[in-house]
Amino acid sequence: VSLRPSRSAVESAARRLSSELGDDRVLYADPDLLARYGSDYSFAGSFPPDIVVRAGSTKDVQTTFAVANALGVPVTPRGLGSGKSGGALPIHGGIVMSLERMTELSQIDRDDLLVVTQPGVVTADLMSRVEAEGLFYPPDPNSLKLCSIGGNVACNAGGPRALKYGVTRNYVLGMEVVIPSGEVLRLGRRTIKGVTGYDLTSLMVGSEGTLGVITEITLRLVPLPQAVETALVSFASPIAATVAIGAVFKRGIVPRTLEFLDTFALEAVRARTPGRFPENAGALLILETDASSQAHAMAELERAAEVCTEHGALDVLLAQDEVQRERIWEPRRVLSMTLADTAPKKMSEDIVVPRSRIPAMLEQVQQISTRRKIRVATYGHAGDGNLHVNVLFDEASADRAERTVQDVMRATVELGGTISGEHGVGLTKREFISFEQDSPLIELQKRLKRTFDPNGILNPGKIFPLGGPSE
Ligand SMILES: Cc1cc2nc3c(=O)[nH]c(=O)nc-3n(C[C@H](O)[C@H](O)[C@H](O)COP(=O)(O)OP(=O)(O)OC[C@H]3O[C@@H](n4cnc5c(N)ncnc54)[C@H](O)[C@@H]3O)c2cc1C
Repeated sequence: VSLRPSRSAVESAARRLSSELGDDRVLYADPDLLARYGSDYSFAGSFPPDIVVRAGSTKDVQTTFAVANALGVPVTPRGLGSGKSGGALPIHGGIVMSLERMTELSQIDRDDLLVVTQPGVVTADLMSRVEAEGLFYPPDPNSLKLCSIGGNVACNAGGPRALKYGVTRNYVLGMEVVIPSGEVLRLGRRTIKGVTGYDLTSLMVGSEGTLGVITEITLRLVPLPQAVETALVSFASPIAATVAIGAVFKRGIVPRTLEFLDTFALEAVRARTPGRFPENAGALLILETDASSQAHAMAELERAAEVCTEHGALDVLLAQDEVQRERIWEPRRVLSMTLADTAPKKMSEDIVVPRSRIPAMLEQVQQISTRRKIRVATYGHAGDGNLHVNVLFDEASADRAERTVQDVMRATVELGGTISGEHGVGLTKREFISFEQDSPLIELQKRLKRTFDPNGILNPGKIFPLGGPSE
């Protein structure tokens, strides 16, 4: 099904947008520039838009919607394009609404512990700005230097520290959002508590750019922990590592991160950075604790490490300083790209299962990989059950790879899990949503989408299977 706008609609839209917003804000008719806005980290293909609007203000977003509605041209919001499920891909052409220029961080409030920001601020920059004030914004997607805070809110991003601190949703107090009619809504509040009206802030968090464009965000902050301690724990096998994860929690310890790398992931890291990680390990955990003092953080880390040793850990390496910490974390942060270099094609899933089912899920993945004869590497935020299952393949095995992903999705749901923990459904997982949600629930969400976007111009073709509200 194609919703591609006609050539004349595109030309009229480009003329009107250029005259109302200025040439500097509108990219049109330059294939190289447009192509830069047509792909993301989902590797789902290249879909160059017809027009890019680099919005500088809420007003620009309103103007774009007015033109798009009048001419029936789709609009796809885009942060920095680090998404892994194709949510920012303009699959039906039309306008990409880039928020990359809305980078003002207008307020860090030390009394009320909050920050007010535009959506285009790079997440890592926001973190360091608030940390300079002794405050802490915990959600830390591993893409923190590549993604925008608006994209994080739109996808409800998580990250390693979600284990102790929760995900983006837990920090969003309020936001300004422009819905496709051009109306500007101020959702939520600046207070921690507040239950007035429906919780539309929560609805907007994780709506993947399908209900509105987020133009300002108010985020809750917490005091910056004074000490962080990190350890690298090696195990003979992935199953041994995941059993130890369960034991750590049973002992009443909640680390700030508990990241997992299976044998294939570890092999890829070893090939890229030889000598960095123990040669005898078949799986790794990155264990990290934080606290208001170094003594507390270290005591907690030692307790967790002890549990791992009791459960078969081969070795525990404690990072002695910031340089050693970074040597542990850097390969983890770029693991997705490292794996992408090991095969012509890769599909990266982000399933979640209840923590107690992680060993069963890993066994399922192993069996599926053997049955389909497809290489699969698994790593991720295993402390909260969130596993990145990476399916590695080439052109000749593309069919088997698709089936591998389907099998993994079904096994996840059967084990009581969910098909996406943080990347969103977007384009790549839209056919799987019905594995997890019944049709009345899917239909209700489509009706909600129509309420926000009656003309179906905002990010069509995402989240719901083909035949969705805007197809
Ligand atoms: C190496 C790597 C590691 C990653 N690690 C993690 C991780 O640990 N945890 C995690 O959660 N994700 C991770 N991701 C995925 C990705 O970084 C996140 O989904 C991120 O939140 C996307 O932000 P972005 O600015 O790049 O958004 P984009 O990719 O540009 O867009 C993503 C979605 O958000 C929508 N959107 C963007 N901005 C707005 C806005 N202002 N208003 C409305 N809709 C908007 C888009 O339409 C799209 O649907 C990783 C990606 C990579 C490449």
